[in-house]
Amino acid sequence: MDTLQVLDKTFRISIPEATIKREVSRVAKEIANDLNGKEPLFLPVLNGSFVFAADLLREVNIPCEVSFIKLTSYQGTQSTGEIREVIGLAKDITDRHVVIVEDIIDSGLTMAHMIETLKAHNPASIKVCTLLVKPGALKVKIPIDYCCMEIPNEFIVGYGLDYDGFGRNTRDIYTVIES
Ligand code: 5GP
Ligand code: MG
Repeated sequence: MDTLQVLDKTFRISIPEATIKREVSRVAKEIANDLNGKEPLFLPVLNGSFVFAADLLREVNIPCEVSFIKLTSYQGTQSTGEIREVIGLAKDITDRHVVIVEDIIDSGLTMAHMIETLKAHNPASIKVCTLLVKPGALKVKIPIDYCCMEIPNEFIVGYGLDYDGFGRNTRDIYTVIES
């Protein structure tokens, strides 16, 4: 299916499953190479990164741990600018090599906030791994250590990403068609 209807919006396919798989696999190998022997602690950010994290982690074939955190900053297709921590850190990250797993970096404000929060807990290192980045939307400078794909400044859904809660359960990624 080349178009997708989610609530009141129509989307067109923009990143097919095969491309996502290839890029996720590439990044998983990079992470495994870089962090082998360091027993990294992966911190996927819910809800958006649950699909990405599941695919990524199954390809990172080194000893590691996973613990989910949850933040929200979006309502509909607009960033509210206000970041709310919903589920906090369940694990002690002191002296751990932490890898934040994010679905998409847009303005970068969520990630900047997260990095600052995590730093206060004295991890050995913090790496940022994101499925997608919109370079044209970045408002703050963030170190992005691992990125699967760069996309234009358009609203997307699928592969874990939602539009008002819907549209997460697709294998491909779709971009909104502005009418
Ligand atoms: P930022 O703080 O970087 O502006 O926003 C980051 C969060 O906004 C992401 O983790 C994601 O949940 C959400 N977001 C940003 N762009 C998009 C988009 O195009 N589609 C969807 N569904 N969510 C997005
Ligand atoms: Mg997110």
